[in-house]
Amino acid sequence: MSKVDESTTVVIVGAGVAGLALGNFLLRSGINCVILEKRSREYVEQRQRAGVIDTRAARMFREWGLEDRVVGGVPTEPVLNFRIDGETRPLKLEADDHRDGRFCPQRVLVRNLIDVFISDGGDLRFDADVSLENLVGDERALARYRDSAGSTRVVSCDFVAGCDGDRGVSRVAVPSGSLTRYSHEYGYAWLTVLAEVPANHQSMMALHHRGFAGQFTRGPHASRFYLQCPLDSSTSQWTDERIWDELETRFGEPMANQGRITSTQLVPLRSVVYDPMSYGRLYLLGDAAHIVPPMSAKGMNLALHDAEVFANAVVQYQTKNDSSLLDSYSSTCLRHVWNYQAFASWWTELVHNAGDASYQGAFRHQVARADLERLFESGSANRLLSEFIAGLN
Ligand code: FAD
Repeated sequence: MSKVDESTTVVIVGAGVAGLALGNFLLRSGINCVILEKRSREYVEQRQRAGVIDTRAARMFREWGLEDRVVGGVPTEPVLNFRIDGETRPLKLEADDHRDGRFCPQRVLVRNLIDVFISDGGDLRFDADVSLENLVGDERALARYRDSAGSTRVVSCDFVAGCDGDRGVSRVAVPSGSLTRYSHEYGYAWLTVLAEVPANHQSMMALHHRGFAGQFTRGPHASRFYLQCPLDSSTSQWTDERIWDELETRFGEPMANQGRITSTQLVPLRSVVYDPMSYGRLYLLGDAAHIVPPMSAKGMNLALHDAEVFANAVVQYQTKNDSSLLDSYSSTCLRHVWNYQAFASWWTELVHNAGDASYQGAFRHQVARADLERLFESGSANRLLSEFIAGLN
């Protein structure tokens, strides 16, 4: 029998974008919740990942009265900057619905969400490595963790929001066979590089026969680079010199600023979806439930979408004793997730196949080039891409 110290309505496992957005929405709705995060505050606030908040997500924060306090960065431009075989070819996005999207580094969003949650009186505990019990049955769900003094703490709750990413504990607490896993491996990886130098361009993507490359500014003194590479690459093969050389080759221009590289990581490109996104009192949000390839820039935005759908469902249940939105949480989110997986897989394949033909062959390369040209030439193809990028599709 567990000794229960505390009780709340929602235990949120994980203080990433999904957990923090959910915590803020619940707090503003007067719903009790506690966020339990495995890592330290410093670690969470420094973690570099995504960089784009789409129009849908920016509007969502505005509707919750949070836009001014949490969304930083500069507006995204309605243009995708390409270097194709060394030639600059900006792709102007025709839908005029991009004005609310932002280049907002994920760590800026995370830091702002933490500040707002804590200053508004939210309960956020770091260094809390959680395990879960009683996800089904008559008793309340339990979240157990060891606090900084070494004592075991147990929090009981009505609902658990599993916002602990792909490698967390929430999804693995679900008995095997209860969720169906759908997945697709793209067959290549990205070397992701952080450097302490300004990028040549705010955002630029290179399509080249040696593979895709990307560069994105992360403020005045830092930039993020991506290099498509084989799955069996290792970071040790990528010296700083080789990285700068390869970027110059694929972009077909000198990298004006070459400075200290602070981190390199290999990210295999894949898509994963778990269905359903709930089990008993546990609801899965964000990367705990689905992964999209980073080419689509949608992982963080999907996590924010789940947070809003789940917050609205809990509010309706608590204020009107109506469980219909909780019952439909998984199907509501999965409709959106599959729509984005469709976009993400098409866009990922197009951009990679249009460059290096060695993965899927010359036929796929030619098809990808035709698809790409259509985006420059056809208004309807361009508008569809624009709406996906804005998050309005
Ligand atoms: P996470 O951000 O992973 O947060 C999960 C949290 O749970 C973490 O803080 C973790 O420490 C915590 N946790 C884990 N286990 C436990 C436990 N046992 N107990 C308590 N806490 C736990 N997305 C975009 O939308 N746009 C982009 O431009 C983009 N670019 C990307 C580029 C790269 C290189 C990568 C890798 C990803 C990119 N993404 C992008 C994806 C995006 O970063 C993720 O989809 C997003 O972080 C998911 O948020 P989350 O809250 O679900 O999970």
